[in-house]
Amino acid sequence: MQQLAFQKIGSLALLCTTLYTLTLFPTQAQQTSVPYSRQDSLRGSITEEREWWDLLYYHLDVEVDPRRKSIQGKNTVHYKVLKSSQTLQIDLQEPMEIKGFYQEGREMPYRREGNAYFVELELPQKVGEIHQLQVVYGGTPRISPNPPWSGGLTWEKDQKGRPFIANSNQGDGASLWWPCKDHMYDEPDSMLISVTVPDPLMNVSNGRLRKTEKPSPEKTTYHWFVSSPIANYGVNISIADYAHFSEEYLGEKGPLTLDYYVLRENLEKALVQFKDAPRMMRAFEHWFGPYPFYEDGFKLIEVPYLGMEHQSAVTYGNGYQQGYKGKDFSETGWGLTFDYIIIHEAGHEWFANNITYRDIADMWIHESFTTYSESLFLDYHYGVNAGNAYLQGARSVIKNDIPIIGDYGVNQRGSGDMYFKGANILHTLRQWIDQDEKWRAILRKMNATFYHQTVSTQDIEGFLARETGLPLQTFFDQYLRTAQVPLFQHYWKDDRLYYRWQEVVDGFSMPVTVSQNNLTHVLHPTAAWQSTDLLLPGRVFEIDPNLYIFTQQIRAPSE
Ligand SMILES: [Zn+2]
Repeated sequence: MQQLAFQKIGSLALLCTTLYTLTLFPTQAQQTSVPYSRQDSLRGSITEEREWWDLLYYHLDVEVDPRRKSIQGKNTVHYKVLKSSQTLQIDLQEPMEIKGFYQEGREMPYRREGNAYFVELELPQKVGEIHQLQVVYGGTPRISPNPPWSGGLTWEKDQKGRPFIANSNQGDGASLWWPCKDHMYDEPDSMLISVTVPDPLMNVSNGRLRKTEKPSPEKTTYHWFVSSPIANYGVNISIADYAHFSEEYLGEKGPLTLDYYVLRENLEKALVQFKDAPRMMRAFEHWFGPYPFYEDGFKLIEVPYLGMEHQSAVTYGNGYQQGYKGKDFSETGWGLTFDYIIIHEAGHEWFANNITYRDIADMWIHESFTTYSESLFLDYHYGVNAGNAYLQGARSVIKNDIPIIGDYGVNQRGSGDMYFKGANILHTLRQWIDQDEKWRAILRKMNATFYHQTVSTQDIEGFLARETGLPLQTFFDQYLRTAQVPLFQHYWKDDRLYYRWQEVVDGFSMPVTVSQNNLTHVLHPTAAWQSTDLLLPGRVFEIDPNLYIFTQQIRAPSE
């Protein structure tokens, strides 16, 4: 059975991954041999011009013109001085342009290096002081060639020909359409997003609608306030002639508003399909703890692309179908029992929006846990075997091409295997812990410990090692820092089973559970051969199929 699984992964991998990586996963990582440019470092590292100031608040105030496909406005940046310096970096990508920087009413000089602007502040910046910098900008932002995989704006129309507009910019960065500190390590504590659109269009952003204003008879400004720290790529505008409906969910922290914004033509479908939102909330609060943004509410917003985990404003474009556009990655049928985009993107509220990577090289923290959350949704509603089957079935999309962790400091993500291989890695760890309630407590504590924080892989590794009490360093090194899958080799000789690990990093020592005749045994293989007489020779035995490992029976060495 295990042999079969090994062969299946080997032979089908090419076909399935070609099919899926093009559609499901964001752009593959480049190989580490690709030389990185100065622009990559300016974008991807915590530069000197970024590290001296702590982001406190943004007020993004823009007008969106659907006819010109343009955005004009300003972003007021509030920050605290951590270390005295006079040069401050703000990012904005071409073809958008910054028209001026202002501090206390005075225009500040700047120099520009590609997408990075360096403002020369003239007022003294003393440690502990809080300052504001107003950034006036505008232009026609890049149109996304392939949303949401490739960042930019999407300008579509609804059935009546009215504008239907949204942004998506994970990876490429929020500076595609608004000026900001475009690095993930620093988040504002709160944010106000003011967006002016022509009537009868409405803009829906993150957080809660604080008020609307009429700057002119034919326009409306929507002021959305986010009361929690927010990653810049999560900031969104969604513009359409929306229909709105809502319900209240009684969750772990009390009543939570669930608000839905959909195209009028899809209202009937949404009333049925969005039943997955409260089902999601029930399952994920059970596994991960309270929804992390009660103050900001939860929203599902229809957009003209597949979907994105915008914080408290999850965007949806799955066509009101089950699975992933009607497909089931696992090919078990379980993937068709839920709307993939509602479950997956909302799972990111815990892993992406609550616990946020500091560097995109650690994007597995978002995608591995969130993909794993799909199986926990099944586990909660249909039982543990449903979740198990889903993860095992989805292994056919794993490529094992390059490591899951990308290159640091250059805005470079790792392998697309961070999705289903990452989920299988976490499921493998669950088997090792072998106490589901403990595992659930760990996932809940993880969301409490890193509540509204940005983290590194080391933070997560350290936390899991402490909480499980297991020696996990070689486990993480193996699965996150190499592309190799541990190979469990075994053979029979003289009525004893011989076994060892191959294709593993030094010191790799994960236990393996085997079962035979309704008895289970735990083996502790290392890279050196060991043997056991716990198993009856000549009888079928099964290696725990929930472990993401390869297995291979070999011929006994001759005398
Ligand atoms: Zn995701």
